[in-house]
Amino acid sequence: MKNIVVLTGAGISAESGVPTFRDSDGLWCNYHVEDVATHEAWERNPQLVNDFYNQRRKQLYEVEPNAAHYALVKLEDCYNVTVVTQNIDDLHERAGSKNIIHLHGELKKVRSTKDPDLIYDLDGWELKYGTKCELGSILRPHIVFFNEAVPNMEPAMRATEKADIIIVIGTSLQVYPAASLLYYAPPDLKKYLVDPKAEVQYPVTHLTILREKATLGVPQVVETLLNDAK
Ligand code: NAD
Repeated sequence: MKNIVVLTGAGISAESGVPTFRDSDGLWCNYHVEDVATHEAWERNPQLVNDFYNQRRKQLYEVEPNAAHYALVKLEDCYNVTVVTQNIDDLHERAGSKNIIHLHGELKKVRSTKDPDLIYDLDGWELKYGTKCELGSILRPHIVFFNEAVPNMEPAMRATEKADIIIVIGTSLQVYPAASLLYYAPPDLKKYLVDPKAEVQYPVTHLTILREKATLGVPQVVETLLNDAK
């Protein structure tokens, strides 16, 4: 079976009701990134950051995967699929994708501030600020803040090196190193980009662009690829 790597961003979850970051109705219009999503913000005002992610988590319990998340699961009938997501939601998991790499963390998990590998599933939406891990240090959201390292970039790069096809969905490709997965992919790979406002900053070879919303564009790409595999 051929290998497919799917890189997803906030746009794939937009039609589920999760706001994106940079669109006109996106989250960054109501918050400053430097107040709630940077390493410095956590050091300066951890309670505010904790509350921000509590609100995001609460909202996640009110939404469901959409047709784009479900379409990607169908690809697994004919391909080895790795979903590399910048999203912190769990909509790929709930749709049924099996192999998911979260580059920027997971909203429903929390971790120790002493040992980053001490990660817990959170029961419910609220992380009460000050709750401690078993080592006695406080728990923080399991999120990669801006200015922090992206530990899952390495497995994502390894998957990309072995890919035969790359599909990029709903990302403004402005956050690195995630965006580099498309730009550094081997030139001969077949690539698809689904985003109503798709813009590529560098020339990319063998790229098919579908300027559609994810729930329309992704099922089309999936159908094409399933037909190709027959
Ligand atoms: P972004 O906000 O920078 O870009 C969103 C992209 O989605 C834009 O290019 C936009 O044109 C596109 N888009 C909007 N509606 C769409 C739709 N219906 N179908 C397809 N595409 C659509 O988001 P990004 O590039 O993912 O930014 C990266 C950061 O945002 C990441 O750090 C990520 O963790 C974070 N984020 C995650 C979530 C989530 O978990 N759902 C939500 C918001 C932001």
